[in-house]
Amino acid sequence: MSARRPFVAANWKMNKTIEETEAFLGDFLPRVAGVEGTEIVICPPYLALKSVVETCVQSRVEVAAQNMHQEAEGAFTGEVSAPMLRELGVGWVVLGHSERRTYFCETDDALAEKLPAALDAGLGPILCVGETESQREAGATEDVLRRQVEIDLAAVPDERLSDVVIAYEPVWAIGTGRTATAEQAEQAIGFIRALVASRSAEAAAAIRVVYGGSVKPDNARELLERDEIDGGLVGGASLDPEGFAAIVAAAGP
Ligand code: PEP
Repeated sequence: MSARRPFVAANWKMNKTIEETEAFLGDFLPRVAGVEGTEIVICPPYLALKSVVETCVQSRVEVAAQNMHQEAEGAFTGEVSAPMLRELGVGWVVLGHSERRTYFCETDDALAEKLPAALDAGLGPILCVGETESQREAGATEDVLRRQVEIDLAAVPDERLSDVVIAYEPVWAIGTGRTATAEQAEQAIGFIRALVASRSAEAAAAIRVVYGGSVKPDNARELLERDEIDGGLVGGASLDPEGFAAIVAAAGP
């Protein structure tokens, strides 16, 4: 069993109104009230952030945004910045999700600026990396992970690396119902940890690297019980309070 604290985050994507969010929390928070060891994070759409922060303030549940701009302010219509998220009481931010990389032209160069901007503002970045199906079939998984990890974390000082959570999310497993096997996930996560170790052995021992891609209540334990896998980033299955609470339970001892 690793000494790293399990980390489980719910990525709601563009789902749930504020009213639906409150209904979810009314059901979910009592279910996880007794959970002590695992860090639980909800990533709602921007408009529900304030309400989730306020509702979760008395609980151990933390809150993440799903993206942010690298600049603190300026002429960037439609964007929000790290200081704006901090002002709301948000603690984390998802960066580099494959949907942002695929549909919204998120680049590794932009992520190289977003990671330090998030940390400087006091946000914990949840950095998503992962290969597509064709990259895996071409044997390029490690090259893709190496490029993403090296560029995206390039401007993060070694002593801050362990403030980042890395989510290994093979693109072919996101929202598809196809889950990486525990062996595949553990192998990729071990490789990511080795990349971090090439910069700092101390950071590699401390940084949390979680798995994302069709995690469900019925496959969560098999994945999350593995020593290398420090938790999960959960999309579809996190929309249901009972199911997400079961996944949180599976990440614990
Ligand atoms: C995600 O959105 O990060 C994700 C892993 O989605 P899903 O669990 O639905 O595959």
